[in-house]
Amino acid sequence: MLMTAEDYRESLRRYTPRIFINGSQVTNVADEPLLAPGIAGVGVTYDFAHHPDHVHSLTAIEASSGKTVNRMLHINRESKDLLSKLEAVRAVCAESGCAQRYLAHDALNGLYQATKRTDDRHGTDYHQRFIHYLHRVQDEDLSLGIAMTDAKGDRSKRAGEQAKRDVYVHIKERRPDGIIIRGTKAIVTGAPYMHEFLVMPCRTHPAEDADFAVACAVPVDAPGITIIARPAGRRGEASAKFSAKYGQSTGVVQFDNVFVPHEQVFLAGETEEGGFLTTTYATHHRQSCIGARAGFGDLLIGAGALMTRANGLDFEKHGHLRDAMVELITITESFYACGVASSVYCEQDPAGSVMPHPVYSNIGKLLLATKIYDMHRIAHLVSGGLIVALPGPDEDHNPETQASLSAVLSGRPDIPTEQRLEVARFIEDLTVSSQAGWYSVMSLHGGGSPEAMKREIWRNYPVSEKTDLVERLLDRDILDEGQKVTDQPGKCCEKGC
Ligand SMILES: Cc1cc2nc3c(=O)[nH]c(=O)nc-3n(C[C@H](O)[C@H](O)[C@H](O)COP(=O)(O)OP(=O)(O)OC[C@H]3O[C@@H](n4cnc5c(N)ncnc54)[C@H](O)[C@@H]3O)c2cc1C
Repeated sequence: MLMTAEDYRESLRRYTPRIFINGSQVTNVADEPLLAPGIAGVGVTYDFAHHPDHVHSLTAIEASSGKTVNRMLHINRESKDLLSKLEAVRAVCAESGCAQRYLAHDALNGLYQATKRTDDRHGTDYHQRFIHYLHRVQDEDLSLGIAMTDAKGDRSKRAGEQAKRDVYVHIKERRPDGIIIRGTKAIVTGAPYMHEFLVMPCRTHPAEDADFAVACAVPVDAPGITIIARPAGRRGEASAKFSAKYGQSTGVVQFDNVFVPHEQVFLAGETEEGGFLTTTYATHHRQSCIGARAGFGDLLIGAGALMTRANGLDFEKHGHLRDAMVELITITESFYACGVASSVYCEQDPAGSVMPHPVYSNIGKLLLATKIYDMHRIAHLVSGGLIVALPGPDEDHNPETQASLSAVLSGRPDIPTEQRLEVARFIEDLTVSSQAGWYSVMSLHGGGSPEAMKREIWRNYPVSEKTDLVERLLDRDILDEGQKVTDQPGKCCEKGC
């Protein structure tokens, strides 16, 4: 059943997670004002699946069941699926800033590939278990929180060397009917208002750290789970033109001896495949981040153009403002184009699914991670200082000041002052407020810090094809295939087998 946003909000009443926000326990997630903008953001992914303009990108046929499912839970079979996902993520994020639920898509696709590979290598039955789980999640149209980033402790040490073992989630005990896990995931998007968590390793662990290579699914209210979260958005703040409505909570999720039955365990000690899962998830997720930040670009482009007009200026007459907007458009569409390229040149996986091309996916994410700061700069440049200097919204209703302020703060005569001030507050909300900082940091570190992308680009880029080309043009002898060496990490030879 494809839920609506209202169905989703109501469905949260079935769960009783242990949650703390700002020092107090939250007992009613569905009605909690501090979480309402986050629930509304996820809600967009549900409502758009019924919306005539978006149903084609927000829904898909799951090949393994023949059923129509939400795109955020779909396994990609061809390039077109990846393009539709990219469009879907851009559309939901242009509406909500960040619809959060696409992380589930990325994790499900990573697990689809990793469980198949693990079974092929070790004779396990993870893939079949995972397919059962996938179908249930799709049938119930659930929202899944992705619990991947461990607290990690001292970054210079591996998991097994940490003074406190609980800085990484690990298997504490193996039982005939399942496993007991404990430890801490540090940053989980939407944690308080998810239905279940998908726990996955955040890095490749060596064989001696096998207990840290664990992937499994648990309901948010499984005994032993505590969520310590931040509020979502800026609910109740009159100047928060956007983030009073939509926002994102993130939570620290502590697992204190949580039992996970076998049927919900998808990896339990297979370190090499755990590393593969980390990389495949990241490749899917970085492509989704591209769609998400393109949606954010849409908001800034629209708001920047409205602000310029409200200021009484014309892009045709004022070339520097047009150039600034063209830079904003170029940034947004250049990383989006990487998302398109990564879909078109997708890689077929032996599991039967496709994955975005890793080079384009990582380049797109690297671009947006760094260019997000330029996007903010351009929005500031075209808007002027009003976006930080405008008196608070209470003055809009102050009989002492309202009329005189309104008279002097107008811009173009045919655009009402209130509309100019509204756009200024919208831009303030997205590029200056605490939410603005959140968008920057999420873009920079979400899906991995820039160094992680650089490593993947270098690892996957066919440098040797370029050296061969130059060797050939220089008429130099090229070594036989078998003698060739490579200095790219993760490749044993030129073919990268
Ligand atoms: C808004 C937001 C939402 C997020 N949502 C989720 C989510 O839903 N699920 C999830 O699992 N994660 C989520 N993340 C986490 C995200 O994936 C991490 O922030 C990212 O992987 C970086 O990890 P970190 O924050 O622990 O930074 P760190 O790992 O501490 O990195 C900080 C800096 O140190 C460098 N560094 C780290 N370790 C080393 C080392 N050993 N050697 C050299 N340099 C090093 C890094 O390159 C980086 O520049 C989210 C993050 C944000 C900001």
